[in-house]
Amino acid sequence: MSVYNFCAGPATLPPAVMQKAQQEFLDWQGIGVSVMEISHRSDPFLALAKQSEERLRRLMNIPEEYTVLFMHGGGRGQFSAVPLNLHQDNAPAVYCHSGIWSQGAFDEACKFTNAVSIDIRNDSESEFSVVPVAEWKLPDTASYIHYCPNETIDGIELFDVPKHPTAPIIADMSSNILSREINVSDFDLIYAGAQKNIGPSGLCIVIVKKTLLEREGLPRPGILDYALETKQGSMFNTPPTFAWYLANEVFAWIEEQGGVKAVEELNKKKATLLYDFIDSSDFYSNKVASGSRSLMNVPFWLNDESLNSVFLSKASESGLLALEGHRSVGGMRASIYNAMPYEGVVALVEFMARFAQEHS
Ligand SMILES: *Cc1c(COP(=O)(O)O)cnc(C)c1O
Repeated sequence: MSVYNFCAGPATLPPAVMQKAQQEFLDWQGIGVSVMEISHRSDPFLALAKQSEERLRRLMNIPEEYTVLFMHGGGRGQFSAVPLNLHQDNAPAVYCHSGIWSQGAFDEACKFTNAVSIDIRNDSESEFSVVPVAEWKLPDTASYIHYCPNETIDGIELFDVPKHPTAPIIADMSSNILSREINVSDFDLIYAGAQKNIGPSGLCIVIVKKTLLEREGLPRPGILDYALETKQGSMFNTPPTFAWYLANEVFAWIEEQGGVKAVEELNKKKATLLYDFIDSSDFYSNKVASGSRSLMNVPFWLNDESLNSVFLSKASESGLLALEGHRSVGGMRASIYNAMPYEGVVALVEFMARFAQEHS
């Protein structure tokens, strides 16, 4: 029986990457030891660091004016790093609120800086959608504008990028980085915890416009300091080397798939299959409006919630793992990141159809 893991994070990784890591676990590049046992300042590891940055730059088409950092502390580390590095006196940090993760970023920023939250949600009984970016009420001056293009828990994705005449645009792409093509120049800073589309938890990718490194910000720990980490090549202290190695392998795997464009096409095919099935069913539902639906995280509800625990146990028996929704929203959630094959979504839809038939 094939097993498909729909966990929201840490999430499923490409089997080809895991097998390669297994093969070279004890002996990396013929050195005779594991990649996690060598100095991060050794030539082989520095070559890996360089290669991974080059791959990511190719995959995302990252312009020269941006620096790429491999940092510690996951997505939430950046909830602190962003205000600490980018705070400006007399200009509020603006947080666009679309769901639970953007709220979390705002709450953290309030510890360090004067932050304001702007509600960009349209919530009615029958439908949830996000206000079009042109209608967001952004203030004239801001230290920066922060938003979350993919709300992992709520299953909401924002496909348009906000614009501001002066304030930098900051995006938490933890759960949708590398899932579809974007124009990096639309952003001033992108960050993404690795454990959804990149590799193991702990690592965080930061792509930041070099001009932002000149900001004084607030006193901050060295490991969260963009300018310092840039100067040190992300090695102010020992980086999470094994996670970095796996990220490099995942980047290579995406290139083998045909790059982000090819992955995006498959992601759309997977999401369409699942949403179309949910919409056509009177047993399951999802109330996110079609233009705001996430390609990566698909929450859904059984109309009869008393069947939730049977649904989950039958799904596990069928090899479909981790479908329980986040505790704060309930219901179910299928996370279908880059590494989830099309066959996994087919297996899920077939199971859901069978379950509905047996319980209607
Ligand atoms: C998972 C996630 C985070 C938090 O990541 P941690 O590595 O656990 O700190 C932040 N933002 C989004 C959108 C996420 O999906």
